[in-house]
Amino acid sequence: MGERVLRGSRLGSMSYESDRNTELAPRQTAAYDCPRGHHFTMPFAAEAELPAAWECRVCGATAQLVDGGLPEPKRVKITRTHWDMLLERRTLDDLEGVLAERLALLRQQRPKMTA
Ligand SMILES: [Zn+2]
Repeated sequence: MGERVLRGSRLGSMSYESDRNTELAPRQTAAYDCPRGHHFTMPFAAEAELPAAWECRVCGATAQLVDGGLPEPKRVKITRTHWDMLLERRTLDDLEGVLAERLALLRQQRPKMTA
């Protein structure tokens, strides 16, 4: 008698738990900014790649993903040129010296333009 009650409650809690797991499937929320000033969020599965743009839920315009709108700091980093990196390793005086050395070598190697 007591055993039967136990078994029943165990089955009940098991099915409750599996229902709960499907509700708590991992999700992420993406925030979008509409050019007309609307702001809204969309739920996506956690493994889904977030679309960079989504139709505004209010007016239908193309809203941009808020997290995706940050390419500018990266662009600033890319403007660091080879010249900039060179100057971090060598001073201009060093470079003048290297240049003079190379020019002297080139002049030595250059065949004389006689006849
Ligand atoms: Zn809008």
